[in-house]
Amino acid sequence: MGEMKNTVAVLGAGIVGVSCALELQRRGFDVTVFDRLAPGRETSYGNAGVIARSSLMPFNHPGLWSSLPRLLKNQSASFRYNPRFVAKNLPWALKFLSNTRTAVFHETTAALDALIRLSTQEHRRLLCEAGAAHRLRTSGWLFLYRSEESFLGSQLSRDTFAKFGIATQALDARELAQLEPHLKPLFPRALWIQDSLSVDSPGQVVEAYARLFVARGGRIRQASIGGLHRQGTDAWRVTEDAGTVHEASRVVLALGPWTKEFAKKSLGLSVPMAFERGYHMHYRAAGGASLGRPVYDTGGGYVLSPMEQGLRLSTGVQLTDLEAPKNLAQLDLAEQAAREAFPIEDRLEKEPWLGSRPTLPDSRPIIGECPGHAGLWLAFGHQHIGFNTGPGSAALLASMMAGEACAFDPAPFRPSRFIG
Ligand SMILES: Cc1cc2nc3c(=O)[nH]c(=O)nc-3n(C[C@H](O)[C@H](O)[C@H](O)COP(=O)(O)OP(=O)(O)OC[C@H]3O[C@@H](n4cnc5c(N)ncnc54)[C@H](O)[C@@H]3O)c2cc1C
Repeated sequence: MGEMKNTVAVLGAGIVGVSCALELQRRGFDVTVFDRLAPGRETSYGNAGVIARSSLMPFNHPGLWSSLPRLLKNQSASFRYNPRFVAKNLPWALKFLSNTRTAVFHETTAALDALIRLSTQEHRRLLCEAGAAHRLRTSGWLFLYRSEESFLGSQLSRDTFAKFGIATQALDARELAQLEPHLKPLFPRALWIQDSLSVDSPGQVVEAYARLFVARGGRIRQASIGGLHRQGTDAWRVTEDAGTVHEASRVVLALGPWTKEFAKKSLGLSVPMAFERGYHMHYRAAGGASLGRPVYDTGGGYVLSPMEQGLRLSTGVQLTDLEAPKNLAQLDLAEQAAREAFPIEDRLEKEPWLGSRPTLPDSRPIIGECPGHAGLWLAFGHQHIGFNTGPGSAALLASMMAGEACAFDPAPFRPSRFIG
């Protein structure tokens, strides 16, 4: 490759951007990553750290309709929405709901399964290469059910896990107590997803991946990017807010939830993305209690993950504007529910963390070259599972950019679903 032809500017240093940088570097590209913050400080910092095969179930699955009347009451810890946001984004909401169709569900679960399997393999390799393997837990994760009925209501999920050969084990209260002895006896049933990994600090994992990229000769520039323009036929100009301009033959847009506004402002592209915001707070376990794995209290609507910083309580979805002020009602409810389930002490931080899951109407990310914009590559929209699927997305994108065969058919992730 010629000198300029070989250069790639990756915009965004979350798990997706950093993973893309590593995969492109591995294929001989000369890569510079740009982020206004240090790597892994935004959405990729605050998530629950779960890398699970069960995450192939999208939020908009065919069973969503039966829980919709409850969710629309706007009172649960698992789901809140701002009616004005929904009205403003009605086409997104209608598409999201129409994608509960069985045919789309089959396509999405198969596509996400392939992406998750590749990502799991890539995470395992990267964690070793980056010296971060000590952060990995292989103890799976647990779905907890507060009643027999709610366990029975999860039949579609369990059938789907079985269809894809995902290792799970249904537990009764006694078996659950053996696995997690410090959980309170609140759950008559649980499902142990054994085909699942987790890490004790997703932010530190992204930092370790970024250090690996730099150790291998990659460059990371801490700068806010204000503009992106085509320069002639085979180059792009990336403009920092401070004015410095960089040229690259290709660009990867991996700005997570900020991609929507950036793509509109810089390129006039409309991306149908909504923001499924979520909060987290850390706690110390009381009285020497501990958890061996993340747990998802399906009735309480929260995930509790053992992290380096303490037990991380993360909330369900708040569908609203990216920059709307914090609303702590969901976190308060989730904390109340978590206290019923597990002995936790006071909050460890004054301010809860807030992040936004960037979600497209079919719950699949966009991975590929942008129609009508040669050399502009897209990698965003990873909704609830971007920490998990960042490395697999990167492997697909890098294979396509290098003109290699992909590990599997990338068509379900093609940008032309929504762009061009
Ligand atoms: C509460 C919660 C729990 C979650 N739990 C899980 C989980 O257990 N497992 C899982 O797989 N996923 C989980 N997720 C989802 C996951 O965190 C996201 O899908 C993923 O982090 C998205 O990564 P990203 O790299 O696309 O975005 P980000 O990590 O947000 O990266 C985008 C980067 O772009 C930078 N940026 C933006 N604009 C500019 C600009 N103009 N100039 C320069 N830089 C810019 C930002 O600083 C940021 O670093 C969870 C999300 C939330 C909110």
